[in-house]
Amino acid sequence: MEDTDPIQRFRFTVANSHSSPKMGVNAFFVDGLLIDTGHSNAQKIALKKFSALEMDQIILTHHHEDHTGNLQALKQVKDCPVYAHKTCVQLMKSPPPVCFIERKTWGANTAVQGILPVDKTIETDKYKFHIIPTPGHSEDHICLYEASQGWLFSGDLYVHHYIRYFIATECVVEQINSLKKVLKLDVRRFFCSHSFKEDRFQERFSQKLQFLEDFHGNVVQLHQKGLRPAKIMKELKMKEKWMIRLLSGGWLSAINMVHSSIRDAELES
Ligand SMILES: [Zn+2]
Repeated sequence: MEDTDPIQRFRFTVANSHSSPKMGVNAFFVDGLLIDTGHSNAQKIALKKFSALEMDQIILTHHHEDHTGNLQALKQVKDCPVYAHKTCVQLMKSPPPVCFIERKTWGANTAVQGILPVDKTIETDKYKFHIIPTPGHSEDHICLYEASQGWLFSGDLYVHHYIRYFIATECVVEQINSLKKVLKLDVRRFFCSHSFKEDRFQERFSQKLQFLEDFHGNVVQLHQKGLRPAKIMKELKMKEKWMIRLLSGGWLSAINMVHSSIRDAELES
C-alpha cells in the first residue's frame, strides 16, 4: 500500500437517527473520480468537502437518495461529467418518490438531467475501473472493480452479512447472482457505501451469499408447502420492524424479503 491512501472516504452521518447512532453513508474519491455524493440532509458539509477536491468526474452506484441526494447541488459548483448505468440515467431524470422515513433520514432525491450512461469501464489518470452490473438491491446498481489494485467499490451490494428488511422492489435472486458475480473477482479491498469494513472480502461476501441462499431456500420450501407469507415469517422466526414498516408505508419491511423470494420462485417455476 502507498504511504498515503489513494482512496478518500467521506462519511455522512444521520442526525437524530433512532435506528442506529452510527448510521450514515459513504462517498469515495480516488484520482479525480467521486463515487456517489451522500445524502441531501448532509448537503452543507458534503458541498464543503467536495468543493475542495480536484474533481474530474463523478459516478453513481445507483439512484437511491442517500447516494445521489447532493448531485444537483454539486453540479452547480463542479462542472464535470457524471456517469451511471443507463437505467440510473433514466431514473434520475425523474426519481421515484422517497417514502416518509427515508426522507426524514436522508432527505429528498432531486432530479438530475444530462447524466451519461457508462457501460464497460471508467478511467482516471492512474486507474481503470470495470463497471460490474449488480442488480438486486436496485435494478440500476453497479459495482466498480479496479483489477490491478484489487479494489471493489460495492455500493449497497454488501452493507452487512445479513439483512433484516427489504425495499419493496428488491430482488433476492438477483442479489444472489450479483454476489456470485463479484465473488469471482480478485478483490483485496472493498468499499461499501454503509459499512467501514474493507478486508476479508471473500469471507464477508460469501457469508452474505450464504445468508440469502439459505433464506431463499427456506422461503421457497415453506411456500411450496402452502404457507402464507406471514406464517413463513413466523416459521423462520423473522421479526417485523413495525415502526419502519409503518413509517415507510410498507416500502421497507421484513415481509418484503418473503414476498421477493416467492415472486422469484414463481418466476423460476
Ligand atoms: Zn441503495
